[in-house]
Amino acid sequence: AVVGVPKEVKDKEGRVSLQPDGVVELVHHGHEVVVQSGAGRISGFSDEEYERAGARVVGSAREVFEAAELIVKVKEPIPEEYELYREGQQLFTYLHLAADRRLTEFLLRKRINSIAYETVELEDGSLPLLAPMSEVAGRMSVQAAAHCLESPQGGAGLLLGGVPGTPAAKVTIIGGGVVGTEAAKIAVGMRAIVRVMDINPKRLAYLSDIFGGRLDLVLPNRARTAAYVRESDVVIGAVLVPGAKAPKLVSREMVASMRPGSVIVDVAIDQGGCVETARPTTHSDPTYVEEGVIHYCVANIPGAVARTSTLALTSATLPYLLRIADRGIEGAAREDPALMRGLSTLGGALVSRPVAEAHGLPC
Ligand code: NAD
Repeated sequence: AVVGVPKEVKDKEGRVSLQPDGVVELVHHGHEVVVQSGAGRISGFSDEEYERAGARVVGSAREVFEAAELIVKVKEPIPEEYELYREGQQLFTYLHLAADRRLTEFLLRKRINSIAYETVELEDGSLPLLAPMSEVAGRMSVQAAAHCLESPQGGAGLLLGGVPGTPAAKVTIIGGGVVGTEAAKIAVGMRAIVRVMDINPKRLAYLSDIFGGRLDLVLPNRARTAAYVRESDVVIGAVLVPGAKAPKLVSREMVASMRPGSVIVDVAIDQGGCVETARPTTHSDPTYVEEGVIHYCVANIPGAVARTSTLALTSATLPYLLRIADRGIEGAAREDPALMRGLSTLGGALVSRPVAEAHGLPC
């Protein structure tokens, strides 16, 4: 197949859907790769590297879309790109269709065959193409919190781990899934005092095993959450209820009870946030203060570390991309149940039940 890699067009999106290593693999499988000039620039990959790997580099997105049978992207198509797509083209990218009726209708009308990264699901229910970005966001959340705690940032002037003879900062992580676990690793590594709250006792047992006593593990309830938030220097929101908005677990009153200059990082902001005072922010203006507490609520945290995020994402997507390029979207989905679960649209029909339910469309 001819595989097309357009440059991402969303504001400040520096990731790219394929790294030069991936080009080498695709070419080895007998495919052709067309890359838009500059697509890898922010992630640190030059046009020359793609060419050396065997790709053809072209000047415009239009040339990529005209040449390619299979488009591989990072973010979902936005309306300004719609007209570039050709009838029957194949698309492998993040789609978030349940939240985007217009895009769903567009894919159906153009009979685009698509698989959404975020819905590719393994037997055990894990999401292999979503997890890498949660891992990045989880690790970044503590780095962001540590920065916000510094005096010049308006923070309480605390070093997360302190030094011998001073108390370390207290970090409370709400939600011990992928984001929460990676946040805990970094916070523990920086020698903070760390506790994780999760309603799933199995998750707590797992964390207890892997952290061997370095974490305080708590089953939350309202009163406990209030008590822990009050004495925390940092609160990290990392909950997820699949397919639903995040529950508001930290009230304004709880936020107001924190010491001035403390920090809240609500990673779950992309699902509405789990802190009452949280609202989405961007990398250009990542924080604001409410109730004396610094809030960092960037909706696309991985965007700030484009190269790491690209390496993490493309390493995870490549094995699936190879199968799709080899067999086509339909053939690959028939062979691999994980891809079948990720199949969104096929020949003008909607095949994802959750998306159909979200929009009241037939499936
Ligand atoms: P996950 O499913 O791996 O983990 C979520 C955890 O939350 C689970 O362990 C679950 O038991 C727990 N949970 C659910 N309800 C809870 C409650 N009421 N109290 C305590 N714990 C509860 O999900 P994840 O991959 O870690 O993602 C977490 C959140 O981070 C999601 O909202 C995701 O969309 C978001 N996220 C944001 C960014 C960003 O850039 N802002 C990036 C990646 C992920």
